[in-house]
Amino acid sequence: MINLEDARKQILARIKPIGTEMVLLEDAVGRIIAESVATRDPIPPFDNTAMDGFVLKAGDTAGATPDRPITLPVVATIEAGMAPDTPLKDHCAMKIFTGAVIPQGGDTVIPFERCLHHDEQSVAIDRPIHPGAHIRRLGEDVEADGSVMAPGSRITPGAIGLLASVGAVQIPVNRRPRVAIHSSGNELVAIGSALKPGQIRNSNLYSLQARVKRWGAIPIPRPILRDDLTEIRSGLQETLELKPDAIVTTGGISAGDLDHIREVAREMGDDVQIRKVAMKPGKPLVDGLIGGVPFFGLPGNPAACLVSFEIFVRPALARMEGRTDGILPQRCGVLKSERSVPASDRLRLLRGRATADPDGGIDVIEIPSGQGSHLLSGFAGSNCLVVAPPSTDVLRPGERVNYWSLTDEEA
Ligand code: AMP
Ligand code: MG
Repeated sequence: MINLEDARKQILARIKPIGTEMVLLEDAVGRIIAESVATRDPIPPFDNTAMDGFVLKAGDTAGATPDRPITLPVVATIEAGMAPDTPLKDHCAMKIFTGAVIPQGGDTVIPFERCLHHDEQSVAIDRPIHPGAHIRRLGEDVEADGSVMAPGSRITPGAIGLLASVGAVQIPVNRRPRVAIHSSGNELVAIGSALKPGQIRNSNLYSLQARVKRWGAIPIPRPILRDDLTEIRSGLQETLELKPDAIVTTGGISAGDLDHIREVAREMGDDVQIRKVAMKPGKPLVDGLIGGVPFFGLPGNPAACLVSFEIFVRPALARMEGRTDGILPQRCGVLKSERSVPASDRLRLLRGRATADPDGGIDVIEIPSGQGSHLLSGFAGSNCLVVAPPSTDVLRPGERVNYWSLTDEEA
């Protein structure tokens, strides 16, 4: 058996970034930017007012008091979008609205509500005003002939605004992995089918597809592979022709007579490892390259298949796209009720639900019954994997446990 971290390291060593593409800004949220975007104009492109009020020269208000206010004539009005061409003369004011250009000669803004009195002709001010007050400076946000966004950073809605403000229409981003997903097994039927004796529905295709989508990658659903060497070979060959960035299969990697996936992977692939990982669920794992494409043979049991995806496939997809959120973040919680975990020589990853304490204390963890690798009911309401080391046989209420959060990716 190999421990989880060592297996993951070996898998990640084979994974390379998959390249970049251009997308429209409106499609870029959540993506990883591949290159900084050069800026031409400074942002803001001109000094402008942050308030509605009057623009004037700060020096003209020197010595103003409530008893001896200073009154200035209002000589013009500047609205947002105008390009004022008359400079502001000494001892004069101009009415100005938020976002409008500060005229040449103006060096401060007094908001309407701070004036002692104002009308269309004049403004009275009862205190000295600081130069620069309420003025938003040219280039304060983005400097001219520079760049915005470090390569590798995630494009948030705020970043979309920034990119739009500098006029970026097309954005260079890292490609999202296209992940081909095959289930395998003679017992599997389409989910719309009525079950005949011995059959089960192909649920893994849907759970993995959902996982891939939520992760922000692109699932390519592929046909069920029957437990037949020839069919598995031709199925994988056809999938390779679609040029996916990763191929995931479920089932057919244990020691049964019909578990042919591992054999075909060995035959078609390079550096294919047939592993026993010291984790529960998810002991069997096959990984390698098939036709140069990273291949993951996950267990067939539905809970095991999803857990193995989280532990091994997710970080690989992250590396392909240049994301930093591949490995599940570890947190600490406190158990709500007792749960016995039969002794094992493997690390147990129990499906659980972590709830934030509204008072800011440690998270509370509930572990549903039904932890078998074939069971999904408990998994359905879970948002984390509680980590129970091999030595643990019982988890007690109030005990602190580490857990790996399943909900923290920044898709
Ligand atoms: P295997 O690894 O092929 O021996 O499968 C292990 C268990 O997982 C068996 O009980 C299978 O019926 C079940 N299983 C395999 N593939 C799927 C699937 N796509 N959806 C649901 N259950 C599956
Ligand atoms: Mg099978």
